[in-house]
Amino acid sequence: MSEPTTPAVSPEALDWAQRLVRLNTISDRSNKALVDTIADHLRTLGVPLRLTRDEAGAKANLFATLGAGKPGGVILSGHTDTVPWAGQAWSVDPLGAELREGRVYGRGSADMKAFIGLCVAHAQAFLEADLPFAVHFAFSYDEEVGGFGARHLIADLKDAGLAPTHCIVGEPTGMVPALAHKGVHRWCCRVKGRAAHSSQTPKAVNAIENAARLIAQLADMAEAFRRDGPFREGFEAPFTTAAVGVIEGGIADNVIPEDCRFHYEFRDVPGVDVDQLQTEVVARARALEPAMHAVDPGTGFGFETLCSMPSFSASAGDPAVELVQRLLSTTQTTLVGFGTEAGLFQRAGIPTVVCGPGFIDQAHQADEYVSLAQLAACEAMLQALRRRPPG
Ligand SMILES: [Zn+2]
Repeated sequence: MSEPTTPAVSPEALDWAQRLVRLNTISDRSNKALVDTIADHLRTLGVPLRLTRDEAGAKANLFATLGAGKPGGVILSGHTDTVPWAGQAWSVDPLGAELREGRVYGRGSADMKAFIGLCVAHAQAFLEADLPFAVHFAFSYDEEVGGFGARHLIADLKDAGLAPTHCIVGEPTGMVPALAHKGVHRWCCRVKGRAAHSSQTPKAVNAIENAARLIAQLADMAEAFRRDGPFREGFEAPFTTAAVGVIEGGIADNVIPEDCRFHYEFRDVPGVDVDQLQTEVVARARALEPAMHAVDPGTGFGFETLCSMPSFSASAGDPAVELVQRLLSTTQTTLVGFGTEAGLFQRAGIPTVVCGPGFIDQAHQADEYVSLAQLAACEAMLQALRRRPPG
């Protein structure tokens, strides 16, 4: 069943959404082609840009201010990268942006290039509206792999002395304002042991067995969260979760393993101190080390942060939530289960809400799509922003 397509999305907005989907910006690649495409367009409109690049210079954040010099302003925030599609059974070209039955198909269509495309398509109209406040576009790199780009972008805003008053993160919420999401914090733990023939265990430090002791601690922590909370109703799992996602170690049945590596994560409900959780994990590792060191002082645990996206929680009266509710003429709100950059903007002191076209059920899946009805609803929100001050 196709969704109704009225009111129609404008041809220019649809064209921009499709154009961006056709540029491959999987997180491990450069997003240069996409950033250049948008930057070239905005430059022709005379919009000042701030580009902040990653260390290798391969990826960039694009921050554009429409109405430079005007106070405050509303940030429209989106990430330019996408997850990959290898191994998924797609029936359409992931880079095709094919239009079929009232939907635009392609990787990143819902998450979240259509939102970015709509913003860009409306740039000229925002300029012509000559609003009393600035509108900023904040398009980041590396959201899907840990929010590294947005951190960089937000630091640059502070350096530039910019103080936006509202932020709308256009992740797919079905155009319902989302008030909260969990954090996502992930680490790689490497256990260094000492190898020996498996008949000579006293000479060895078993990396896998020591890893298993720490993993058992993580499982115990997860059980305690589930039993004792803290709880936040509205989430599918209304408590903090912990999980091990990857483990690797050992080379042969008759060799005590020297190395083991595993990845684990916490998805914390707002209000939980994740640093404290990680401190508990590290403390357990340190408690295991004396016995390891007794055999070989070169053994032990090492930790590397893979991903650190803070949780997000706004109150119902938050200025950004109220703004979007006014723009959409709705009192509805929701919570979402996925992480976004909203927590980063909020921690920078900018009232933030998550609201964008499409649905997370389609994101990261084969045959990802966004419906034209959702695009039209998002376009209506942008048009309303042109007509009404943010308050
Ligand atoms: Zn996303």
